[in-house]
Amino acid sequence: MKRIGTSDGGGGTRTSPVFDPATGEQTGEVVLATAADVDHAVRLAGAAAEAWRDTPLSARTRTLFAFRDLVDRHRRDLAALVTAEHGKMPGDASGEVARGLEVVEFACGIPHLLKGEFSEDVSTGVDASSVRQPLGVVAGITPFNFPVMVPMWMYPIAIAAGNAFVLKPSERDPSPSVLVAELWEQAGLPPQVFTVLQGDAEAVDALVDHPGVAAVSFVGSTPVARHVHLRATAAGKRVQALGGAKNHAVVMPDADLATTADALIGAAYGSAGERCMAISAVVAVGVGDDLVSELGKRASRLVTGPGSDPSSDMGPLITAGHRDRVAGYLRSAEQEGADLVLDGREVEVPGGAGGFFLGPSLVDRVSPSMEVYREEVFGPVLCVLRADGLDEAIDLVNANPYGNGCAIFTADGRAARHFRRNVQVGMVGINVAIPVPMAYYSFGGWKQSLFGDAHVHGLEGVRFVTRLKSVTTRWPEPSAGAPVAPGRSELHFPSDGNL
Ligand code: NAD
Repeated sequence: MKRIGTSDGGGGTRTSPVFDPATGEQTGEVVLATAADVDHAVRLAGAAAEAWRDTPLSARTRTLFAFRDLVDRHRRDLAALVTAEHGKMPGDASGEVARGLEVVEFACGIPHLLKGEFSEDVSTGVDASSVRQPLGVVAGITPFNFPVMVPMWMYPIAIAAGNAFVLKPSERDPSPSVLVAELWEQAGLPPQVFTVLQGDAEAVDALVDHPGVAAVSFVGSTPVARHVHLRATAAGKRVQALGGAKNHAVVMPDADLATTADALIGAAYGSAGERCMAISAVVAVGVGDDLVSELGKRASRLVTGPGSDPSSDMGPLITAGHRDRVAGYLRSAEQEGADLVLDGREVEVPGGAGGFFLGPSLVDRVSPSMEVYREEVFGPVLCVLRADGLDEAIDLVNANPYGNGCAIFTADGRAARHFRRNVQVGMVGINVAIPVPMAYYSFGGWKQSLFGDAHVHGLEGVRFVTRLKSVTTRWPEPSAGAPVAPGRSELHFPSDGNL
C-alpha cells in the first residue's frame, strides 16, 4: 500500500486512507502533517522565497517554460493518477490537466504581466513609477474534485511572480501533487520554492495561522471557505476563499431543446456531478415537460462504471460516505413530493459491487424549499424547476445563496443580455453550460461561493500574489553648497500639482 507524506518527511502519526473509488479498495494512506511540520515547511519556504525573488525574471520564466513542457509530457501520468484516486473518466482527467496547463502557459508570460508603469516629468524633474513585488510565501489549500487543475490555478502564477508556494492538497487524492513536485524539481525550480504538505484540518489551520504565510488561496466547500476566510483575515492576511455552488441553467422556450439537453447532460453528470461548475438545477421557462423528456432519454442511456472500462460514461463518487449522502438527498426529494424520473440508486455496475457508484438521477417538479435544492448535492443529480417567465427565473437564481456559475439557453439576444446584466453570479454562460473562464480571465463566484475580493488566475490572480509599490523620484541639481532655509511653500501640500 502506498504511503504518501509531506515533501521532506514530517513527524505526523495520524494517517488518512486513500481509496480507488471504482473498486472501493484502499490503495494508500496519507501521513497527515502536524503543526510542527507546517512550521518547518513554512520556514524553509520563507528562506527559499528570499532567494527566488532575486532570481532574474528571465531565469524564472525559463523554469516556467521547462515545467510547462514536463507537464505536457506527463499529461497521461497525471491523468492516470486522477482516475486512480478520484475515479473520473480518463478523458475527463486529461481535460482537467489540459485546463491546468493553460494556467501554466499564462504564467509563462509573467515578464509582461509584471511590467510596471512609468510616467516621466509628473512634476518638474520628477518621475513616477509603480512595480508589483512578490508577497513571500503563498499557501494553497485545495479540494478533492480537481486534484491537478485547481492547484494549477494558483501556484504557476505565484511562483512565476517570485513567491514560494506551499500546497496542501486534498487528503482524498494526494498523489497528483507528488508528481507535480517532482516535475518542478526536474524543471530546475530551487528546493522549497514549491512544497507539498499533505494533511487535513490541522495542517490547514496551522498554515492559515502561520506568521510566515503572507496569503492564503483556498478552494473547497462553503463552510470551510468561510472558516479559512475568517481565520486568515483575523490574522491580517490576504485571502481568497472559493466555496461551494448551486449552478442553474435557465432554458427559454425558444432554445433548441436537443442541443440544450446534450449540453445539460454533460454539465450535470460529467465527473459524476462532482464539479463546482456542474449544473445541478435547471429552470425551465414554459418548456418543462418536453425538456424533462429529452433529458430523461439521454440520462438513462449513460453507462456508469469504472474509468478502466472504455464503455463507461460516468465514474464513481469519491467515497462511500459521500455516495450515501447524495443518495440521502434523493430519499428526501421523494419524501418532499418531487418526481424521481430517473433514480441513480438503482444503478447496477457489473463487477463494481465494491465501488462508490451512484447512477445519474433526474428529479422533476422540485421546489426551492426542498432539501435537494437548498443544499449543494455534489453528485450526479439534476433537479428541474419551472418558472413562468425570464424574470421569475432570474429571481429564483438570485434568491439562491450561492453565486458561482449559471447559464441561459435561448435564441433571443435581448433575453440573454437581460439575463447577463441582472443575474447575481460570478460566471455566466450564454448557450454554454459550463462557463469556466480561460486562464487569462479570472475564475470566481459571488455570494457564498467566494469569500474575499480576488478571483483566481488571470490578472486578478497576478494581483493577488503581488503587491503594488509606487515610487516618486527626483534627482535634483546639486545645490551650490550654501544651506537653504525652507520657504513657507515648502511646508504646504502643493496646490499647483508641482512637487
Ligand atoms: P472540503 O471543503 O471538504 O475540503 C477542501 C480543503 O479543505 C481540503 O484540502 C481539506 O483537507 C480542507 N478541510 C476540510 N475540512 C476542513 C476543516 N474543517 N478545517 C480546515 N480545513 C479543512 O471540500 P472537498 O469536499 O474536498 O471539495 C468539494 C467542495 O469544493 C465542493 O463544495 C465544491 O463546490 C467546492 N469547490 C469549489 C470550487 C470553486 O471554484 N468555487 C472548485 C472546486 C471545488
